[in-house]
Amino acid sequence: MPARSATPRKTRTVVGRAPRAKRRVQSPPPRLRPRDVRRLAKRLRTSYGPQSWWPAGTELEMVVGALLVQNTAWTGARKALDNLIDADLLEPTALHAAPEPLIAELIRPSGYFNSKARKLKAFAELVVTEADGSLATLLAKPFDELRALLLATYGFGPETADSVCLYAARYPAFVIDSYTRRLLERLDWVTGTPSYDALCQAFVDALPAETEVYAEYHALVITHMKHTCTKRPRCGACDLIDICPTGQAELGLEPGSAVRRPGRRRATDPPLDWNA
Ligand code: SF4
Repeated sequence: MPARSATPRKTRTVVGRAPRAKRRVQSPPPRLRPRDVRRLAKRLRTSYGPQSWWPAGTELEMVVGALLVQNTAWTGARKALDNLIDADLLEPTALHAAPEPLIAELIRPSGYFNSKARKLKAFAELVVTEADGSLATLLAKPFDELRALLLATYGFGPETADSVCLYAARYPAFVIDSYTRRLLERLDWVTGTPSYDALCQAFVDALPAETEVYAEYHALVITHMKHTCTKRPRCGACDLIDICPTGQAELGLEPGSAVRRPGRRRATDPPLDWNA
């Protein structure tokens, strides 16, 4: 979701063939209030401390990793990324020149390797045609222009495009992923299937439009979902139990009877003040 607004400077060439966007039911998130968004961040920060987490060493690793990790675990994506590095292909012009079957073979550990090879080729073509082969030049484009270019490229949906805008270009672009959706559903803060844009807007409205804030929030959600609110949630160990109807039902508690846990915040952790 754009946190800035600017009209793209000119019409751009569509690179690759963008898949037809899936239509989602546009139900608004009625209980996702700004103060709940900020309260959730504070509660997670109290539980897990500052994350200061960034997903990759270089911008190109981040972008390629974002494509490789689609529908798979990071371990497979990492192995595929390492294969590209070992083959001297982690460079836009090298990827652009490499035969697609070779790329597919190298990234086999990431699964869906044929379609992901096509996505990598489409991305490389984008960098070559729109930025003379320089990822830095591409990432320096204005936010709306960069996001539009990515969304017009095969392999980039809103989540991947916003991840690139946030973590590679360092724009304040809030990322909604399956972890975020699952947490909001378990907290009973959304009903139906809110659109990506509707969920994004709820977070954008509640938080300062700052890259570090959005990145920290996303990192806190991921940490919580990986360590506590897993597929089979560990509600007995969760500090959100007092605000989570799913967890209370899981533990057989009366609605509203769970008491707030103190969390594990350390005295050395800096306070979180996001206009709460
Ligand atoms: S109480 Fe359970 S379901 Fe609710 S957020 Fe915590 S781990 Fe997830």
